[in-house]
Amino acid sequence: MSSSRRVVPIAVAEAQPRVGRIEAFFVHQRERFVWLQAAMCLVFVVLVFLPPWLPEPTLDDGVTTHLALAANYAMWGLWFPLVLLSVVLTGRSWCGLLCPMGAASEWASRVGLQRPVPRWLRWSGVPVVSFIVVTILGQTLGVREHPEAVLIVFGGTMALAVLFGAIWARGKRPWCRHACPIGLLLGVFSRLGAVQFEPKRPVPGGERYAEIGLCPTMIDIARKQASRHCIECFRCVHPQSQGGERLRLRRPGLEVERIREHAPDATEVWFFFLATGTALGGFLWLMLPSYQELRGDVGRALLALGWSWIGNAAPAWIGSSHPQRGEVFSWLDVGMIAGYMLFWAAATAAMLALATAISAWLAGQAGADGTLRSRFVELGYLTMPVALVSLVIGLGSRLFEPLQALGEAAPGHAKQALFGLAVLWSLHLGNRILALQGVPAAARWRPLLPSMAGIGAVGLSWWAAIFGL
Ligand code: SF4
Ligand code: SF4
Repeated sequence: MSSSRRVVPIAVAEAQPRVGRIEAFFVHQRERFVWLQAAMCLVFVVLVFLPPWLPEPTLDDGVTTHLALAANYAMWGLWFPLVLLSVVLTGRSWCGLLCPMGAASEWASRVGLQRPVPRWLRWSGVPVVSFIVVTILGQTLGVREHPEAVLIVFGGTMALAVLFGAIWARGKRPWCRHACPIGLLLGVFSRLGAVQFEPKRPVPGGERYAEIGLCPTMIDIARKQASRHCIECFRCVHPQSQGGERLRLRRPGLEVERIREHAPDATEVWFFFLATGTALGGFLWLMLPSYQELRGDVGRALLALGWSWIGNAAPAWIGSSHPQRGEVFSWLDVGMIAGYMLFWAAATAAMLALATAISAWLAGQAGADGTLRSRFVELGYLTMPVALVSLVIGLGSRLFEPLQALGEAAPGHAKQALFGLAVLWSLHLGNRILALQGVPAAARWRPLLPSMAGIGAVGLSWWAAIFGL
């Protein structure tokens, strides 16, 4: 959804001399980014393509003695959680500077068919569907345990990134803008980040899509309001020129506090809600004994209907198939994991949407401006910090494993602290969003209450993950 509200540049200190130096450095180096990306292609090959062909690690092997274990920890203990958390400090620097898939997509787009991007691909739900499908596939394949699954998921997304680039757009990144599940995560959460590229001469009227122009993610530079699609490639930054963008640093969360001036998007709000539930489902099926009971009940019921095929092994491209490691998923396993995660995604989204809708209605009663829908979308953004931490805890929990050296309980305490900080940040964002909606300070607690109750319910659902119960 594009915003047609008045463009009000984020309040930043007029003079940012250190930022000027950082900007000059990156502008000077931008022609060399390609070498970094080529080096990352090599790292990608080593971490993704090599491990499946190596001998099985023995019980004595560790990350320092076996490449497959080192690659697994590099991906799930470091890369995923740290890149996700890095958006708060550096925005989508991973995408613009390092990502081999995005670079490959753009290289393919320079020599490919260069067709116009079709309407179906521009539908804003495409990356949301892509995120849910890839996250569920990652669970049914066991992407955090098996190098073969990493090859299927990451090799497959690399192939799609190149294919998209080879078919659509000219010298751009259609995969990154429209379909990459990681790009969606990083893009949406980069709105919380401290890095911003703002137009030197902003044109009012809301964001526009620009398939022609220098931006690889099709941003109309002069109308840019949101950080979401900016991959920080620095191509639009020319310090001596009057036009283009300039780099600015800001307080983390400022864009979300003033979200009404930065192209609020209902799809993004639904994405936080769904992603929080998807991460919860992806964690809880592994943790809760009740999942195994449910699987047994469903299996027996389907067998009673004569569906004996549910016990057959699922194909290796959709379900974990590793007899040498004692794990072969049947059709029942694949269906149950997918159904369980989709149930949690839908239930969490419905609960958070209801809480946010009540908050939006109460905000209106307390004097907030706008329609119920616009208040819903703006207030939906206050769940962002909790959604971000949910994804880190649910899908990147190996980050916390080294803390066991400080004591058995240390990883749990770190997760509690992180979740607690996210709740406080959400509370702060909600307070600021309501202030801009015109709700007097003394009346803000009432519309905040339902949203915070929804976040509390998410916290309760994370109980097993955070408190280790
Ligand atoms: S959007 Fe996806 S493919 Fe593109 S640069 Fe970012 S992570 Fe890489
Ligand atoms: S807005 Fe500028 S820095 Fe951001 S992706 Fe587009 S060209 Fe690169």
